[in-house]
Amino acid sequence: MSSQRQDLLKRLKTDSFDLLVIGGGITGAGIALDAATRRLKVALVEKGDFASGTSSKSTKLVHGGLRYLKQLELRLVREVGRERAIVHRLAPHLVKSEKMLLPIVRGGTYGKVGTSFGLWLYDFLASVTGTDRRRMLSKQKTLNEEPLLRNDGLLGSGLYAEYRTDDARLTIEVVKTAIRHGAVCLNYVEAENFTENKGKISGANCLDHANGERFGIAANLTVSAAGPWVDGLRKKDNSLTGKRLFLSKGAHIVVAWERLPLKHATYFDVPVGRMIFAIPRQRTVYIGTTETPFEGNTNHVFANLPEVEYLLNGANRMFPTAKLTLSDVESTWAGMRPLIYEEGKSAGEMSRKDEMFVSPSGLISIAGGKLTGYRKMAGKVVDLVVKKLASGHSRQFSACQTHQVSLSENPFENAAEVIDFQKVIEEKLKPFGLPGFYAAYLVENYGRPALAIIDQALAISETGEEAILKSELRHCFEHELVLKPADFFERRTGRLYFNIRSVEQHLEAVLRAFQVQFQWPESTLQQEREDMLRLLKNTCPMKS
Ligand code: FAD
Repeated sequence: MSSQRQDLLKRLKTDSFDLLVIGGGITGAGIALDAATRRLKVALVEKGDFASGTSSKSTKLVHGGLRYLKQLELRLVREVGRERAIVHRLAPHLVKSEKMLLPIVRGGTYGKVGTSFGLWLYDFLASVTGTDRRRMLSKQKTLNEEPLLRNDGLLGSGLYAEYRTDDARLTIEVVKTAIRHGAVCLNYVEAENFTENKGKISGANCLDHANGERFGIAANLTVSAAGPWVDGLRKKDNSLTGKRLFLSKGAHIVVAWERLPLKHATYFDVPVGRMIFAIPRQRTVYIGTTETPFEGNTNHVFANLPEVEYLLNGANRMFPTAKLTLSDVESTWAGMRPLIYEEGKSAGEMSRKDEMFVSPSGLISIAGGKLTGYRKMAGKVVDLVVKKLASGHSRQFSACQTHQVSLSENPFENAAEVIDFQKVIEEKLKPFGLPGFYAAYLVENYGRPALAIIDQALAISETGEEAILKSELRHCFEHELVLKPADFFERRTGRLYFNIRSVEQHLEAVLRAFQVQFQWPESTLQQEREDMLRLLKNTCPMKS
C-alpha cells in the first residue's frame, strides 16, 4: 500500500468530519474541493477508482450544450456556457479551446437562419467575445475548412467555440486539489450503509475494497454524489420517494486519425434521432454519442455492436470518402447519464438540470447536471451544507472560492504558456523517438509534471515508449492514488481509448511494475492480468 493511501485511510478511520461525500466522480470531487476551500473538514469515498462511473465516459467537452438551446433551456446554456471559460482558466492545459464546425445540410436539424441565430444566442448567453465568436461559412468555405464533408445537400456551416477536456483527468485533478486543501479522499472505499444518531445520519459504514476491511466514518452531514447510484443510496436511507433517476446510455467509438483525418471537431446530423460529434484527439478521432434507455448491470457498461454500427453509419454518411468499417474501430466506451425522470419524455428530451434531494434523516443527494457545471453544482451543495452546519452554532464559513482555485500545483497562467511549454517538451522528447502526438499527450495529461516524467525516464538512461510509460506509472504511483492497472491505462492516461496498441504492447511490463509496487503474489498478478484482458475485450467488442 502506498504511504499516501495509508495516511488517508488512517485519517478516514480516526477523524471526525463536518462532511462526508459519497462518490468520487466530478460532482463529488467538486463538492470536496469546494468544502475544503471553505475550511470544512471533508472526507470523500469512492467505491471504485475516481471517475470510474460516468465521469470517464462522457464526450469530454466542457461545453454550453448547444442542443439545450433547442429545448429552450436558456438558463442552463448560459450557466454552463460561462463556466467553460472559468474551468479553462483554472486548468488551461487540460481544458482547451476547440473550434467546432456545425455543417448545415438540406433537411437537417438546423437551417441557415436558425444556425446563425442559434450560435449567436449561444455566444451571447456564454459571453463569448472577439475571434471566438461564431462565424457563418458558405458552402465553399466550409469545404475548404473540412474537405471530407459530404458535398451534396451541404448548404454551409457555422464555426463556433467550445472547449474539450479529459473528464477523468479533470476529476483526478479536482480530487488532488481537494486533498492539497485538506480533504481526505480515497478510492476503492465503498459506503455500504449509513450510521444514525437520533434519526439523523451520522456517517457511513464503509468497506475498503483494497484489503477487505470494514470501518466507520463519522460526519456531521453526508452528501451522496453517487451519480447513477444515487437512488440506490436513497433506498438504503428509506427516502426513495418522489422524483427518481432515469439512466440513459451513451456510447462512443475511436478510430485512427489517418482513417478520418478531420481538420475540425464537427457536430452533425445522423439520419435517425440526435446529432453526434466527431472530435480529433492526438492520434485519433472519436465519434459519439448515442442515447438510449439504459437497462442492466450499472457496474458493467460497454458499447454494443448496434451502437458501434450506428455511429459508424452516421460518420460515413457525413464523411462518405472515409468508408469506415468495423475493423477501423480501435476502441469504444459507454456511460450512463443520471437524468431526473420526467413523465412522457424520451431520454433525449429529458432535462440535464441538476437536482438536490434532502431526506428526513438529513441525507443530501445530488444528481443530474453535467461535467461542465460541476463547480456550480458543488457551490450549491456546499452553500446548503454550511447553512446547516452554521445553524445553532457560532461557526462562520466563507462563500464559494473555487473560481480562483487553480487545478494544479504549479499552474499555467494561460493557453499561450501551455503552447510554449509544449515546445519545450517536444525538444526534450526527441531522444525517445516517439510519434509527434506525444508532447501534446503528456502536457494535456499531466501539465508541468510532464517535464519531471521525461527527466526521470532520461535519468535511468532508457528511451522509447516503454521508458516514458514506466515513468508515467511511477508518477501515478506517487501522486495519483492508482491501485489497479485499469486506473492507469483507462483513467490516468486515457491510453485504453486513445492509444490501445500501447496498452496491448506494454501490459506485461505494467503488470510487473504493479506486482513490485504492491508486492502482489502470483495469484493476484494473474487475476489482474485476466481483468485487464477482459477490459480490453469489452472495450473493443467488434474484435471478439
Ligand atoms: P459519476 O461520475 O458516475 O460519479 C459517481 C461515483 O459514485 C461513481 O464513481 C461511483 O463509483 C461512486 N459511488 C456510487 N455508489 C457509491 C458508494 N456506495 N460508495 C462510494 N462510491 C460510490 N457532460 C458535459 O459537460 N460534457 C459532455 O461532453 C458530456 N458528455 C456526456 C456523454 C455521455 C455519453 C454521458 C453518459 C454523459 C455526458 N455528460 C457530459 C454528463 C457528465 O458526464 C455527467 O453529468 C457527470 O460525469 C456525472 O458525474 P457524477 O460525479 O455525478 O457521477
